[in-house]
Amino acid sequence: MATILVTGGAGFVGSHLCDRLVERGDDVICLDNLFTGRKRNVQHLLGNPRFEFVRHDIVHPVYLEADQIYNMACPASPEAYQYNPIKTIKTSTVGMVNVLGLAKRCKARLLQASTSEVYGDPNVHPQTEDYWGHVNPIGPRSCYDEGKRVAESLCVNYANEHGMEVRIVRIFNTYGPRMDPNDGRVISNFIMQALRGEPLTIYGDGSQTRSFCFVSDLVDGIIRLMDQDERMGPVNVGNPGEYTIRELAETVLELTGSKAELGREPLPADDPKQRCPDITRAREWLGWEPKVPLREGLEPTIAYYRDRLAEERS
Ligand code: NAD
Ligand code: UDP
Repeated sequence: MATILVTGGAGFVGSHLCDRLVERGDDVICLDNLFTGRKRNVQHLLGNPRFEFVRHDIVHPVYLEADQIYNMACPASPEAYQYNPIKTIKTSTVGMVNVLGLAKRCKARLLQASTSEVYGDPNVHPQTEDYWGHVNPIGPRSCYDEGKRVAESLCVNYANEHGMEVRIVRIFNTYGPRMDPNDGRVISNFIMQALRGEPLTIYGDGSQTRSFCFVSDLVDGIIRLMDQDERMGPVNVGNPGEYTIRELAETVLELTGSKAELGREPLPADDPKQRCPDITRAREWLGWEPKVPLREGLEPTIAYYRDRLAEERS
């Protein structure tokens, strides 16, 4: 049993991670400023003696004790991270320094939730961890992409300078229950639109691709990375099944039984054209690979959004 701090623990991925750690018998401190996270995501844990919620912003110094730290704090949807881009940069830079400082003082192992966005609009496909990326440093996504790149650099330099134990996971598009229905990401948008009978907003011609990992697979991968003693990473964790956005829209219509139409919206600037993880490293280093195919993961996700919609209407 260990004390584990999960920053961003009231968010979509963070809350599932808290569940898994509490289940396995750890003491979990969930720290969150509730910018995109919600108390409802951890409501069921609040009475558990192994769980504690702390409302705090990592841009300000954090004084707690922990054996391990998962740094998940950062808005992840393009709409959310572009809402206040300077704050997004501060979270991944000033916030990262604060969390690294905490890990250093506590001699805690730290796992940083990085992202496939460090590869930008990639010209290597699928993306391997030794690809350096193709990122526009002044575009609308740069607050997130460059912030996460600085965060990786900070982790590596703290590890080298101070002998700290860090782990870097590059997370590819992940979905599942508790992803905010209004956060603008493609899976939540399409399912909510399909359930409401509104046109599905395909940006551009829908030929851009993404690969979608179910949240239980992701949580399994990041815990494995944290708990092994050999490797710092970075390690890609994602599902290599690759779909065009149009295929995704059609699958959502089929699985929801919706008669909604496919609509078109302009493609946002710098939207990556294709994205798919090479997970050789995760397989070899962690013995990890995803188990949940897209259709299987969409079922409980659709059920979750049906419930949210019913709540909204009642
Ligand atoms: P999310 O927005 O649901 O969760 C992020 C959480 O961090 C929220 O609870 C938010 O309130 C909190 N937060 C934001 N800024 C904070 C700050 N300054 N101080 C304290 N808390 C703060 O997003 P998510 O999908 O759960 O993503 C979690 C992490 O995984 C993020 O770091 C994200 O960059 C990374 N990631 C996610 C995906 C994905 O597809 N879900 C892909 C790549 C990387
Ligand atoms: N997208 C879309 N319609 C939407 C939301 C997103 O066509 O309503 C597209 C978006 O342009 C991108 C892909 O879906 O090509 C994934 O977008 P998301 O915001 O989920 O994540 P990203 O991988 O771009 O960070």
